[in-house]
Amino acid sequence: MFHLCSYNDFMQMSLTFARDGRLPEILKRLRASWPPRGQGKCDPLSQLIFVIVAARAPGASALAAFQRLKRSFPRWHDVKLADLDLLTRALAGVEDAREKAKTIQNILREIEKRHEYLELDFLSDWSTSAARQFLESLPGVGPTASAATLNFSTLQRTVLSVSDETARPVRRLGIVPEGAVRSSLDRHIIERMPTEWQAHDLTALHQGLEKLARHFCHHGRPACKGCPLSDLCPTARRGAGDVVQFKRRED
Ligand code: SF4
Repeated sequence: MFHLCSYNDFMQMSLTFARDGRLPEILKRLRASWPPRGQGKCDPLSQLIFVIVAARAPGASALAAFQRLKRSFPRWHDVKLADLDLLTRALAGVEDAREKAKTIQNILREIEKRHEYLELDFLSDWSTSAARQFLESLPGVGPTASAATLNFSTLQRTVLSVSDETARPVRRLGIVPEGAVRSSLDRHIIERMPTEWQAHDLTALHQGLEKLARHFCHHGRPACKGCPLSDLCPTARRGAGDVVQFKRRED
């Protein structure tokens, strides 16, 4: 555990260098508390489809549904042409399976229309901002999904995916300005992170924040007492008994 510097020292560093001096320590503690999973990276189209399947679904159910989808329809071309009922059945077990099945087919049709081939590897030649713009122009793809595709896949871009869940500890930790809109949170964090951070650091930050949100930084009353970041967190300093309400779905 880190106890040498106080929260005020960290904030002073942050003001001096226009960066948040707590971020390296936050990541270090998150990695120590929940060691990152050493997953192999998949191609960007598979990652994007997985993100769509996994929205609002527990990780294990999402993975099972994705694997069932791939077993039932081995090629993306097969998924694109699949009967909607069969596709929905393959996604059984995740919330809004039918809507997700429609979204996946719409995404595949759109990629094929614009790019001819059903893959997204061509994005490796594009700048990160152009790739994000392309992904977010696809039906049903927002900033969280586009960032996850670019960061978690073989594209390995230095972008951060901020979900509804991870936005909560990010705000409570004061890493972003108060009132910052959800769509800007990743940009604020990237502006404040150490310059040497790479894609894998942001993947680890995302995974650690997910665990933090699930185990300590709950919706409603956070369990600050046992939180590994409590001495770095202004919300904990104000009193762990504070109940801070966040909207479940943000803009
Ligand atoms: S100290 Fe409390 S509010 Fe801060 S990140 Fe941990 S659980 Fe959330």
